[in-house]
Amino acid sequence: MTIRNLVIILGDQLNLDNSALEGFDLALDHILMVEAPQESSLVWSHKARIVLFLSAMRHHAVKLEALGYSVTYLKLETHDFASLKAAWQHYVMLLRPQKIIACEAGDYRVEQDLLSLIALTNTLVVIRDDTHFMCSRADFKHWALDKSGGSKQLRMEFFYRMMRKKYNVLMQAGEPKGGAWNYDTENRKAFGKAGPQKIPASPKINVDAMTQQVIEVTNTKFADHPGSLKHFIWPVTRDEALVFLDDFIAYKLAGFGNHQDAMWQFESQDLDFDEANKSPYLWHSLLSTSLNLKLLNPREVIAAALNVYKLNGLALECEKLNGFSQTHFSRDSDLSLASVEGFIRQILGWREFMHGVYWLDMPQMAASNHYQHTNKLPNWYWTGNTQMNCQRQTILQTLQYGYAHHIQRLMITGMFGVLAELNPQSLETWYLAVYVDAIEWVELPNVAGMALYANGGRFTSKPYIASGAYIKRMSNYCTNCKYKPEIKTGENACPITTLYWHFLIKHYQVFSRNPRTALMIKNLDRFSEAELKAIEKSAGNLLNNLEKL
Ligand SMILES: Cc1cc2nc3c(=O)[nH]c(=O)nc-3n(C[C@H](O)[C@H](O)[C@H](O)COP(=O)(O)OP(=O)(O)OC[C@H]3O[C@@H](n4cnc5c(N)ncnc54)[C@H](O)[C@@H]3O)c2cc1C
Ligand code: SF4
Repeated sequence: MTIRNLVIILGDQLNLDNSALEGFDLALDHILMVEAPQESSLVWSHKARIVLFLSAMRHHAVKLEALGYSVTYLKLETHDFASLKAAWQHYVMLLRPQKIIACEAGDYRVEQDLLSLIALTNTLVVIRDDTHFMCSRADFKHWALDKSGGSKQLRMEFFYRMMRKKYNVLMQAGEPKGGAWNYDTENRKAFGKAGPQKIPASPKINVDAMTQQVIEVTNTKFADHPGSLKHFIWPVTRDEALVFLDDFIAYKLAGFGNHQDAMWQFESQDLDFDEANKSPYLWHSLLSTSLNLKLLNPREVIAAALNVYKLNGLALECEKLNGFSQTHFSRDSDLSLASVEGFIRQILGWREFMHGVYWLDMPQMAASNHYQHTNKLPNWYWTGNTQMNCQRQTILQTLQYGYAHHIQRLMITGMFGVLAELNPQSLETWYLAVYVDAIEWVELPNVAGMALYANGGRFTSKPYIASGAYIKRMSNYCTNCKYKPEIKTGENACPITTLYWHFLIKHYQVFSRNPRTALMIKNLDRFSEAELKAIEKSAGNLLNNLEKL
């Protein structure tokens, strides 16, 4: 066949409004989609992450074919190409298109591979803007470099305000609705002794024959990979993703705001995901996979939250999110501005900011190691076999579900990484492997930038560190732990607490000069010489025995 344009669609580009399909001529153009083993094994991917991507890709290809697109789809079990690049190169040479068209990738390495086809096949490669995002790479760069635009510091908060104004989201006469730009302080409540109450069950998806086949392939080809498929709940089609969106808006949004940072260990780790009031997902939306695979558009997710807020009696202006203003109903009449704003901030603020900053700072972000940390990732990150209950619970949950919420990722496994001086690249690989929603553009800035401070505070004012007291306040993990969060040294001392004080001692000069960390140093100044020495000794011992913790 003679082909005009060969359109390459990647596993996280499963939207029909993919910019690579603009101007597609059903008679002249052709689509290539490839499942490559390397994409599952370059990092030792969680089985659920593999199933999610492959099943969603296969469903999307069927949809495209039903709409009349001609598609070459290479299933993992039917070809010998190790990498995407090898398969692309082969098919470009075979089909000899005039042009290759793709949408911007979600991973620097993959985009470089796409571009390498120019030299490898002597064919023009056109990479189009990813219009799924509400801030393009170019606009973000412009904002970040524009000193007069309120972006003197590369901070999410300034970016978020700019985006609120640009899209007229939760604004009133040019001012933020309710008088404040964010209600972050209202989003940090713990559950209290009784634990979380009345958590709604998560929606169920139907594991159809196609997903079942992918599960079998994954169990055969990636049998030794981490994680379980027992609780595979993730939407693999847009219809399923819309069910998740409606369910969140209807049942969970109202509870999301208050408790988004809280953590809880239920009696059993082997809960069924739909066991009401014991869901490991708490009030979180479970929308990251659908957004990242582009089964959902961020504009429609924001519009859904805004619309339901409007139904509860407050005006909204979301014309600029046009096309995405269908009505969603909340079954909860207590929907507060704090909940809606808190949720929208995650999508319009954090998610877009992370996307912008990844492309602004790659490839150097991937190699950054501000503190020059070199400790090896303990093997228990892959098994959960540690006596620190906070780590154990978060890791076991992650292995079982491929999911942990942002504070578990930031303040449990991430914070341990910085306090235990783990090499950032080894932990970045772990995060990319174990979470179902992991794609490098969102994983890396969160890990290198937020959790590990590996990029030296490029967009954060201080490292996210705390003692065991924080974990005790925000969860019930410490109740079931052999260590005691308030004890700094000795047999029952909490390793997080010991390493926290050690970290402050080690970086005393820098932290005492930073207004955001000066209070921590003031607390440290109250310690006696003997206490400081004991902390140093205990920390040295811990750092030499991380594997045994
Ligand atoms: C160390 C670390 C690693 C992370 N790695 C990933 C990752 O690989 N993939 C990923 O999608 N998210 C990642 N996040 C962000 C966040 O943890 C997940 O998006 C969230 O937990 C997904 O669950 P949810 O859909 O129930 O989110 P909710 O808690 O319900 O939040 C709603 C939505 O907001 C967005 N969001 C929230 N926080 C962030 C954030 N910090 N960055 C970008 N988007 C955000 C997501 O799209 C999410 O679906 C990471 C955060 C940290 C601290
Ligand atoms: S005591 Fe320390 S190690 Fe144990 S759960 Fe609490 S914070 Fe984690």
